[in-house]
Amino acid sequence: MEHTKGFLNYQRIEEDYEAVELRIKDYKEFVHELTPEQAKQQSARCMDCGTPFCHNACPVNNVIPDFNDLVYRQDWQNASQVLHSTNNFPEFTGRICPAPCEAACTLNINSDPVGIKSIERAIVERARAEGWIKPQIAQQKTGKKVAVVGSGPAGLAAAQQLARAGHSVTLFEKNDQVGGLLRFGIPDFKLEKETIDKRVEQLKAEGVEIRTNTLVGELPEGTKVTNWATTSVTPASLLKDYDAVLLTGGSEQSRDLPVPGRELEGVHFAMEFLPQQNRVNAGVAMPEQIRAANKQVIVIGGGDTGSDCVGTSNRQGATKVVQFELMPKPPEQEDKPLTWPYWPYKLRTSSSHQEGCEREFAIATKEFIGSEGKLTGLKTVHVEMKDGKFEEVPNSEKIWPADLVLLAMGFVSPVASILEGFGVEKDARGNAKASTDAKGGYATNVPKVFSAGDMRRGQSLVVWAIREGREAASAVDAFLMEPS
Ligand SMILES: Cc1cc2nc3c(=O)[nH]c(=O)nc-3n(C[C@H](O)[C@H](O)[C@H](O)COP(=O)(O)OP(=O)(O)OC[C@H]3O[C@@H](n4cnc5c(N)ncnc54)[C@H](O)[C@@H]3O)c2cc1C
Ligand code: SF4
Repeated sequence: MEHTKGFLNYQRIEEDYEAVELRIKDYKEFVHELTPEQAKQQSARCMDCGTPFCHNACPVNNVIPDFNDLVYRQDWQNASQVLHSTNNFPEFTGRICPAPCEAACTLNINSDPVGIKSIERAIVERARAEGWIKPQIAQQKTGKKVAVVGSGPAGLAAAQQLARAGHSVTLFEKNDQVGGLLRFGIPDFKLEKETIDKRVEQLKAEGVEIRTNTLVGELPEGTKVTNWATTSVTPASLLKDYDAVLLTGGSEQSRDLPVPGRELEGVHFAMEFLPQQNRVNAGVAMPEQIRAANKQVIVIGGGDTGSDCVGTSNRQGATKVVQFELMPKPPEQEDKPLTWPYWPYKLRTSSSHQEGCEREFAIATKEFIGSEGKLTGLKTVHVEMKDGKFEEVPNSEKIWPADLVLLAMGFVSPVASILEGFGVEKDARGNAKASTDAKGGYATNVPKVFSAGDMRRGQSLVVWAIREGREAASAVDAFLMEPS
């Protein structure tokens, strides 16, 4: 690093957000990326410490000190090369990664960490604007055929890596568009879908054949997952026609709340609500859309998905949005000496929370209340943890008025029938059972069938899905190219 004392001279700069009253008028992204001058200054805050904890904390192991140095020198093209050497889609992570790298930055011990995520985004946007992101077409084909099932970040990263290694890749997706939760879960205001479309064009140019609207295997009647398949293929036909199959179908089964009144009209899974708005944004007519306009909305679940429901409800014109979290309220500030370089336990306030949301902690829903089949409210109690179990706080019952409840309590597992169709063994949580060992990693119990991403590791993050997609592609490649 040419400039090793920048952290003494420059403060951390956060990316600017559009004002709340403007940004909630539409579903567009509202974060303004760093200017080249700001990015140079921010990268100068990196002290290139001997052991880059950030590099280790980043699930794709981005080579952070190196790209910081290149940005400082304004060598953006090489910065982009370094970034793309570990991350197929930095424009996704540069927007929506929670940035565990920054928690692990050495500066974070007693100061503000380097703004790694904002620098990552500035690099990839510069690369896109300059036209440096081009298809990397394999010079030689191997003659091997691979089926990748599921086009979320894990499937996309794997398909890209495998195509670049010279294999013929077909990507199967049951939805009408590619991207998995990037497309239908994460709202446009966090990630505009044009960003995915540009990568899809790159994948196609690299030779990946994409088959949307195609379900692999079967979904039991009434399964509540996104599915616009118009055709299906059987696991048996994939096993017959391909040299390897990689399952990257995500962890789509939402966690339910089976309390009295669950059947009332007005109680929905987040993943019924969010995909509809993303489809409307994409120009699809949704006459039956679940809408929060003029409603009192309660979001149950305090994570990312819940926060996305808050942001979407406010944009739709909810009169009030309340978010419940079962766990107690975390501290406002982490205990740095205790937690660094790990991901700290602390209160996280998202941009959606800033747009208007009442947050309740240590609260459990006992019952949904309704009239004539329609939700009118819900009954809660406060809870506290005793001996590792939640106990109700006596006399803490409360009735909350509500016209719409969104269940955002996470995802329990992949849809079992898909794994069962291939005969893939499941782990104790119902995910595809496969290790991440250097040898034999990502391979399931079924010969030539591999699995990665949320389908293997359970509900996680985009950056982990990209890592698993890359590693699984490498495992599939090693399997295919093994001398017989
Ligand atoms: C609302 C929401 C917000 C989130 N926000 C963030 C965030 O801000 N940052 C972050 O890092 N992570 C976030 N996450 C988590 C992140 O989106 C996931 O961890 C990630 O997308 C997992 O990638 P994946 O490729 O494993 O699976 P997915 O993205 O779930 O993709 C799986 C794909 O497989 C397809 N599929 C499944 N079965 C079949 C089949 N049988 N045949 C054909 N296709 C099939 C599905 O239709 C889907 O398109 C969020 C998740 C949700 C739900
Ligand atoms: S992908 Fe996430 S963890 Fe890795 S450098 Fe980017 S923001 Fe940090």
